[in-house]
Amino acid sequence: MLKLYNTLTKKVEEFIPIDPNEVRIYMCGPTVYDYFHIGNARSFVMADMVRRYLEYKGYNVKFVMNITDVDDKIIKKANEERRSTNDVTTDYINAFFEDITKLKIKKANVYPKATEHMNEIIDIIKKLEDKSFAYNKDGNVFYDVKHFNGYGKLSGKNIEELEVGARIDVNEEKNDPLDFALWKKAKEGEPYWESPWGKGRPGWHIECSAMSCKHLGETFDIHAGGNDLIFPHHENEIAQSEAATGKPFVKYWLHFGFLNINEEKMSKSLGNFFTARDVLKRYSAEAIRMFFAQAYYRGPLNFTDDLLAAAEKGLEKITNLVDKINDELKKNISSDVKPEFDFKSFYQRFEEAMDEDLNTSQAVAVIFDFVKEVNRVIASSENIDVNFYNDVKTFLTKTADNVLDIVDFNKTRTGDDKLVNDLIELLITLRTEAKKNKNYQLSDTIRDRLKELGIVLQDSKEGTSYKIGK
Ligand code: AMP
Ligand code: ZN
Repeated sequence: MLKLYNTLTKKVEEFIPIDPNEVRIYMCGPTVYDYFHIGNARSFVMADMVRRYLEYKGYNVKFVMNITDVDDKIIKKANEERRSTNDVTTDYINAFFEDITKLKIKKANVYPKATEHMNEIIDIIKKLEDKSFAYNKDGNVFYDVKHFNGYGKLSGKNIEELEVGARIDVNEEKNDPLDFALWKKAKEGEPYWESPWGKGRPGWHIECSAMSCKHLGETFDIHAGGNDLIFPHHENEIAQSEAATGKPFVKYWLHFGFLNINEEKMSKSLGNFFTARDVLKRYSAEAIRMFFAQAYYRGPLNFTDDLLAAAEKGLEKITNLVDKINDELKKNISSDVKPEFDFKSFYQRFEEAMDEDLNTSQAVAVIFDFVKEVNRVIASSENIDVNFYNDVKTFLTKTADNVLDIVDFNKTRTGDDKLVNDLIELLITLRTEAKKNKNYQLSDTIRDRLKELGIVLQDSKEGTSYKIGK
């Protein structure tokens, strides 16, 4: 039984899909004005793991991730670069797809773009206007927050508390400082669309209400995003959607903790970020995914090279077993040596971990226990029947590959690759020896000469790992 922490009820709840045949998930995607950073990647990867675990449990999942391709930041970037907003978004949408593919994130069923949903966006604003939840002020349309009864139910903020904060943000046009824009009147040099209120463009929050409704229906199962979106973005989505349809919007709200740097949120505006594509040059996608999986998805996680290098090093244990399995499957030995092995209990432990509000770090620990146990069995018998290796491969495929995707059975090392690996490992051992003997000149030479060959060594508490190329 899968249990999830629901930000709306502030409780860990049993997950029961609205339609037993299909789980519908909406995840707030990128605003495409730059490469996404490794903090964004954390949210994207964790949403991917949620989706994959639901598929593991046998659900059909419809996964929708929007692309915000009309926004102040996009307009600013286009002006700075003297390009059209369309050129800017096209480039970064392509880059987004390249990067999520490298991170092994499964494709969503739909990637709706705001610019392709203007009719739906305008329709929902019209509905809100008809129901007196929205008002037009000279071509700007605002949402009347106080008119909606449940405002604050997701973030736990109340109207009085919000009013204190909102006074700072006095906007002459709004009836009330708490109100937010649904439709923004076009300004000189900005992209615009025709609407019943004149030329303009939608606010950010309404895009997600319109596009989720179009692709997932008025009520759906899971809405996900990073913690920063709880307020105001998701709070406003609820206000818009529930006012427009009169129905509950989302059953389970899932929010991912921040990826921090030096205990501070990684963000574009603070400038303390690394793009996912740069981090991918230094670490494998599997290591990055394992680094994320080893932390509780709701909590903060600090980005450090030590942790990533440790993840890379840790993965070698799995990769070595994968190599061994691939070898044995090729050999295809039939024999009487059929070791007793309790696969069932490992599946059970993996599921128990994931069922408990997606305890991915425990799930990773189960996989490592499994690898250790398999290695013990392999070390103690010879000529093992190929079926044992088939079962080992099935377990790792279903868990480490299909759900967490921290292993790749197709990345088989050829004989040459294995020789290269063994030689690099030998040099790493010699370097470690040299360091132990305080022969830093030699240890540095080994590191530098390897670097010249395109082999980068990364030290961590677990030992030294390496990465070849780029
Ligand atoms: P953005 O492109 O800024 O709208 O963000 C895309 C997604 O990444 C959203 O779901 C954000 O909540 C999430 N996000 C942004 N910064 C971080 C961070 N430092 N850690 C984790 N998730 C983040
Ligand atoms: Zn959104």
